[in-house]
Amino acid sequence: MQYRTHPVEENTNQDFIRDIIKTDLDSGKHESITTRFPPEPNGYLHIGHAASICLNFGIAAENDAATCNLRFDDTNPSKENTEFVEAIKKDIKWLGFDWNEREYFASDYFDKLHEFAVTLIEKGKAYVDTQNQEQIRTNRGTLTEPGHDSPYRTRSVQENLTLFDEMRKGKHQPGSHVLRAKIDMSSPNLNMRDPVMYRILDAPHHRTGTDWPIYPMYDFAHGLSDSIEGVTHSLCTMEYEDHRPLYDWFINELEVFKSRQIEFGKIFLSHTILSKRNLTKLVENKLVSGWNDPRMPTISGMRRLGYSAESIKEFCRRVSITRRWNTAEIELLEHCLREDLNNKANRALAVLKPVKVVIENYPENQVEYLEASNNPQDTSSGTRKIPFSREIYIEQDDFMEEAPNKFYRLTPGREVRLRYGYFITCTKAIRDPITNEIVEIRCTYDPKTRGGNSPDGRKVKSTIHWVSSSHAVDAEVRLYDRLCIDPEPDISDGENLESVLNPNSLETIISAKLEPSLKKAIPGNPIQFERLGYFCLDSEDSDGENNLVFNRTVSLRDSWNRRQSAR
Ligand code: ATP
Ligand code: MG
Repeated sequence: MQYRTHPVEENTNQDFIRDIIKTDLDSGKHESITTRFPPEPNGYLHIGHAASICLNFGIAAENDAATCNLRFDDTNPSKENTEFVEAIKKDIKWLGFDWNEREYFASDYFDKLHEFAVTLIEKGKAYVDTQNQEQIRTNRGTLTEPGHDSPYRTRSVQENLTLFDEMRKGKHQPGSHVLRAKIDMSSPNLNMRDPVMYRILDAPHHRTGTDWPIYPMYDFAHGLSDSIEGVTHSLCTMEYEDHRPLYDWFINELEVFKSRQIEFGKIFLSHTILSKRNLTKLVENKLVSGWNDPRMPTISGMRRLGYSAESIKEFCRRVSITRRWNTAEIELLEHCLREDLNNKANRALAVLKPVKVVIENYPENQVEYLEASNNPQDTSSGTRKIPFSREIYIEQDDFMEEAPNKFYRLTPGREVRLRYGYFITCTKAIRDPITNEIVEIRCTYDPKTRGGNSPDGRKVKSTIHWVSSSHAVDAEVRLYDRLCIDPEPDISDGENLESVLNPNSLETIISAKLEPSLKKAIPGNPIQFERLGYFCLDSEDSDGENNLVFNRTVSLRDSWNRRQSAR
């Protein structure tokens, strides 16, 4: 598969579908436009759906003369439920789109669809087939072989009406009969070989309960639901191109409003898995903690990881809609995220893998409050005071006892700057006599360097972050990494899901030490832990100040700009 490149400076909101819509409005072909986003409530929305949402709701937002319906295509009660409906609505709202009162369900149209089916029977265009599933499949033929007519294809209209009525009344067992459209068993398009319109299903529906022992098939319900709603432009992904003749056939036979279907290429994302079928498996097989596991490419997972709605929308804008299948690089998504968080996120000091530093010449029991900028990108964000004292924590990685030349951070004899604080010089490291691990670092500080300023032009090569040990708050920090190592995980056989997952997609750190202001963190508010990355409070597992859990949303280093300049 070919990756498309997405130039960062690309700043257009236009695509071939928006062009068509503009033409249709300008020419007066349509006075107003209706699009719809039609999820099946059988899972949570993922980043590919976000692209479709941004397209359909985006068109409505950009044009005064356009509206977008939210329609749940809920024709398969065995896989659908209210949890999914509610999650989908929450995600669309969170992305910043609104369907106002235009919330519909295919199940709203069950009566109407049933009438349509009866009309087709009366016209001799639909029949009840009594072959079993296996026979129907065999007689359907293949891409190279035509199908065979069912022996029940010539049933009389009256017999069909009677049987279908009995099906409707629940007098037949699941699998004993189906209603099929009478089209053409030798059509080169398999979708036209007498597709099933209705099946008997003994499954309560999340909205219609046990009212219906029969349910319409997706292909029968979908196009006609668009028609009922007066959808002018029905935007769907390429795999429905071959279904369009069937949707048109139903529309023509029933002489009802015709929507124009336009297909576009699905959006995929590298280093992840994006089909609901496989995401469902991840959840059901407990390979992740749930649909909103922060590693999932679902909107809810991304939200929990710390993604902003703006960054997702910006990503969708840059990927743009084309006729081609499009795998976007996750680096682009992360780039959009960093751009947004860099402006929004307040800064904080946090030490993930702490080692204690004792500043020998700093008075015991003294505490002073140093001023720190909340966000250098945003002067209105103000400053805060962070406590400083004789004992602090720094990152283990910021110290080396025997350092190579290129190591500019703390090592015996070296002076470094503490962020917002003083210059400190390391005198020695103390090791545990038994384990030989470094348990404490000894330093001195220069009182004339308060605020990190050099009194005499003296230079230090690095600035490190820290927290005062007696003021620090404890936290668990979850370092998330990509769901899959391979940019294009091969899940073709559908059975090897576990083997494509990144075994190191989650590193849990339980010993993190944070500056006290982070006690007040709230989920959904991004925070940059200086030098470490963007983080946010976990919305599920945090429990106030008693149990702080932070997720790493994304590291600081942007690999997208580098990739672009290498191109
Ligand atoms: P999946 O392929 O992940 O199982 P789906 O197409 O079955 O998804 P639906 O609930 O039917 O899921 O999707 C709702 C809408 O989102 C449809 O119009 C579909 O075309 C669109 N959509 C789904 N996946 C993508 C994608 N990867 N890129 C763009 N649009 C998508
Ligand atoms: Mg679908």
